Amino acid sequence: MSALDEFPMSAPEAVDPDIAPAEGIAFIDGDYRPLRDAKISVLDFGFTRSDCAFDTLKVWDGGYFRRDLHIDRFLTSCETLRLDLPVSREELTGILDECVRRSGLRRALVKPVCTRGLPAPGSRDPRDATPNFFAYAQPYSDTIKKEVQDRGLDLIVASAPRISPDAVDPRIKNYNRLDFVAGLFEAFDRGGDNVLMPDEDGNITEGPGFNVFVVKDGEAVTPGRGMLEGVTREVAFRLCEELQIRTRVAPVPTAALKGADEAFITSTAGGIMPVTAIDGEPLGDGGPGPRTGQIRDLYWAKHDDPEWMTPIDYRTRAP
Ligand SMILES: *Cc1c(COP(=O)(O)O)cnc(C)c1O
Repeated sequence: MSALDEFPMSAPEAVDPDIAPAEGIAFIDGDYRPLRDAKISVLDFGFTRSDCAFDTLKVWDGGYFRRDLHIDRFLTSCETLRLDLPVSREELTGILDECVRRSGLRRALVKPVCTRGLPAPGSRDPRDATPNFFAYAQPYSDTIKKEVQDRGLDLIVASAPRISPDAVDPRIKNYNRLDFVAGLFEAFDRGGDNVLMPDEDGNITEGPGFNVFVVKDGEAVTPGRGMLEGVTREVAFRLCEELQIRTRVAPVPTAALKGADEAFITSTAGGIMPVTAIDGEPLGDGGPGPRTGQIRDLYWAKHDDPEWMTPIDYRTRAP
């Protein structure tokens, strides 16, 4: 019996919790299985070389939020890395749907991943490897804990720069993150909630899994170089336009960040999240900023907007 037959085709209400475990469902090696049983080889170049691309989509109350922007980015990430994705766009979206459907999750994070895969025996040549595509749906969780979001984050600016965009293209969503890991430990050691990475010139780039905006004199400014072009960053531009808040893409020196009236970070898992201190020094009046609040409210209101949502059919199996 293949894992494909293991799960009944039923509405999520009827999903047997023993069969569709709460922690999610994966598609791997051509089959669907509980996420805890999804494993890759220790020899996979995705592991030994961080040679892989991924994306994170959000399912909110039974529908994807801005699905196609994530799918477009994932396909571009794979192409830029010269990863030959073994599934078509249509097959990919069908597999993501099926992971969610089988998990029964109404709020989920959904990740397509493609690694360089297993090398041919004795070969270190990436051209000899067979790309390994897998995907999974797991219960939704925020990048930043809800309590921290509500009070606002204290972000630390790391003392070492983010890896140069000339070395590793940060527009590819990837798992090459040792700079972020070092930055996170530094931030925790210094009593912060999370980290922002500067570039070699001291301009802010991004944090581990989020972009950043500063608001000064009513204008929201975000970096344009050295960071992933986040879907939520793109969404924030649209929300600001609707709220008649001017936006600008420009370098953000650390001093401009510290001198901002307010700041916020953006991520699929969490949305728009206020920043209230940098390196322990309060921003503005030290509370979440009023414009950040407006943008955050509109962001969540958009989860009811059919223009930005793609509903999932939990009853029918994908072809
Ligand atoms: C995913 C990610 C972001 C945020 O992108 P979204 O599409 O808004 O979720 C920012 N920076 C990095 C490094 C990321 O991996």
